[in-house]
Amino acid sequence: MSDVAGKPCILCCAITGSLPRKLDNPAVPISVTEQIESSHAAVEAGASIIHAHVRNADETPSSDPDKFAALQEGLKKHCPGVIIQFSTGGRSGAGQERGGMLPLGPDMASLSVGSNNFPSRVYENPPDLVAWLASQMKQHAITPEVEAFDLSHILQALAMHERGDLYGKLYVQFVMGVKNAMPADKEIFDFYAQLMQARAPDAQWCAAGIGANQIIVNEWAIAAGGHTRTGLEDNIRSDKTTLAPSNAALIARAADLCAKYDRPVATPSQARAMLGLRSA
Ligand SMILES: [Zn+2]
Repeated sequence: MSDVAGKPCILCCAITGSLPRKLDNPAVPISVTEQIESSHAAVEAGASIIHAHVRNADETPSSDPDKFAALQEGLKKHCPGVIIQFSTGGRSGAGQERGGMLPLGPDMASLSVGSNNFPSRVYENPPDLVAWLASQMKQHAITPEVEAFDLSHILQALAMHERGDLYGKLYVQFVMGVKNAMPADKEIFDFYAQLMQARAPDAQWCAAGIGANQIIVNEWAIAAGGHTRTGLEDNIRSDKTTLAPSNAALIARAADLCAKYDRPVATPSQARAMLGLRSA
């Protein structure tokens, strides 16, 4: 038994994202109806956070607040209690468009706090936009999940939290394995986890790996006492040659890893308590 045994592990399912298409994997949910069905199955498999982007009918990314509203309504109805987290990531819109859905008041929203390179472009998060998104989240009582694509983003999250710029409890996600950003490197992962423990012992953190790194980073996070994210947004395969059959299947394999490390899979209400969120 490790010292993390018994600590519930929050599993986040990133159901859709901005990039994967049906052509890449037909299981990627695109319409709001598909998103709700896929989320429902993922929640049954152990997900307590649904991280969502919305898409247009032609599968291109959208930032339409009406689509987010329809998704929110469906999730509340069909997955009662699940933590709803909307993406304010930069692939679905430009500038303040990225936060256009925040007045809907989801439980959480992703927040990038710095810029870095992505596979084929710069992921731009200028300071004024970061400050605006954070202030909108405060105004609408939304707990940010800070996306750390780089070490500097973790330090920025800590500084913003100390200044009172972030609503609620601090929650940081380490994202590893995005091409041209931070690779999935175990020494750096360990340093990230130690840094969070040293600077913000009351905070929670989670980690996500992209592509084939997904299951690797899931295991690092679970073994280290963090929380973890999986789902078709980050990875569409079960292994090199097999497409993942569903979001639920990716959650199930993370849940299996939780069992290996004696970590119970957090229920939505346990996850809400750990993250300091209001009850549903
Ligand atoms: Zn996302």
